[in-house]
Parts: sequence; C-alpha cells; structure tokens
Amino acid sequence: MRLKQIKLAGFKSFVDATKIPFEHALSAVVGPNGCGKSNVIDAVRWVLGESSAKHLRGDAMTDVIFNGSASRRPISVASVELTFDNSEGRLAGQYANFQDVSVKRQVNRDSESTYFLNGQKCRRKDITDLFMGTGLGPRSYAIIEQGTISRLIESKPQELRVFIEEAAGISRYKERRRETENR
Ligand code: ATP
Ligand code: MG
Repeated sequence: MRLKQIKLAGFKSFVDATKIPFEHALSAVVGPNGCGKSNVIDAVRWVLGESSAKHLRGDAMTDVIFNGSASRRPISVASVELTFDNSEGRLAGQYANFQDVSVKRQVNRDSESTYFLNGQKCRRKDITDLFMGTGLGPRSYAIIEQGTISRLIESKPQELRVFIEEAAGISRYKERRRETENR
C-alpha cells in the first residue's frame, strides 16, 4: 500500500488548495525551516483520526485551520484528502477490490469533523477500523518522528506489545473482541 497523493486546503500553512503527488516508491519533502514539511505529516495523522491537538503541535483541534497571515485572512474550514494505492488489497473488507482508496477529513471552526471514504460520508471509526492492523494510523509505526525510536527503546513491555501486535496484524482482532465483550 502506498500513499499516492495528498490534497490539502485550509490546513495549517496550506491555505490554498494544494495537491502533492507521490509518484515514486521513495519521495522526499525538502525545504527551509518553517515551510510546512511537518505540517504535511500532521495532515496525514489528522486524516487518519488523530484526536489530540497536542500530537498535531497545537492547543485546540481548530488550530489546524489556517489562521491568517500578514496578507491573508483566517478561513473557516480545513480539509485533507489522502489517496492510497490499494492494488495489493491491503485495505480489506468492502474496499479490498478498489485500486485507489481515498480518505478525507474536514473540520470547521465549531470543531465539527466530517470524514469520507471514497467520497462517501462515514464515521471516524470506519477509518480507524479500515487502517487497523495495516501499520498506518494516527500513532502507528508507519510514521516515525524525531524521538520515536528512543521512545520505543525506553517503553514499558506493555507499550511495546501494542506495537508488536499492530505489526503482526492482530490488533484489529483484539479490538473486535474488546468491542464484543463490552456490548
Ligand atoms: P522545520 O524545518 O523547522 O521542521 P517545517 O518545514 O517542518 O520546519 P512546519 O512546522 O511544518 O515547518 O510549518 C510551520 C509553519 O506553519 C509556521 O510558519 C506556522 O506559522 C505555520 N502554521 C502552522 N499552523 C498554522 C495555521 N493554523 N495557520 C497558518 N499557518 C500555520
Ligand atoms: Mg519540521
């Protein structure tokens, strides 16, 4: 599974609609300090359901909306769409046969988030369920940031186990069992 494209509009420093294609197996995002490189990664985690403003380097969830600059007024909505190449069928269930799967999240100043899967409105849970066990999620090991490795090395066995279970692909089954037991 490969991230093919990110579309951002009104998200952090990306005030105008911006399309970032990743056409090759390996891509690098480079640029001067403050140009928005980390904002791109924040965008990926945000769409996948990140619900902590702190983990997106902000104080409130609405901090992801473009809040104005010297020459531009703040705007009211932020949206990000990720398109994944799913030709290997890693995203299972009803999406298994889709070559491309797109995931979109939108938020307004009232902090209301709306999620979409292939253009259809869905719940946050539909997105977290879809990606569970694929290694990609708001906090999973597909995104390795500064300090992640040392945090892993220093983590307690129970915390390490969460990573291993995600890598082994069993976290989705554990989550389903937990849901069933709580019913
Ligand atoms: P570095 O190389 O220092 O890590 P970077 O390329 O990762 O830099 P980012 O942290 O992605 O840079 O971007 C920071 C910029 O994004 C800052 O200029 C900040 O003002 C801007 N920014 C963050 N949130 C918003 C927002 N809600 N509205 C407008 N601009 C924002
Ligand atoms: Mg950065």
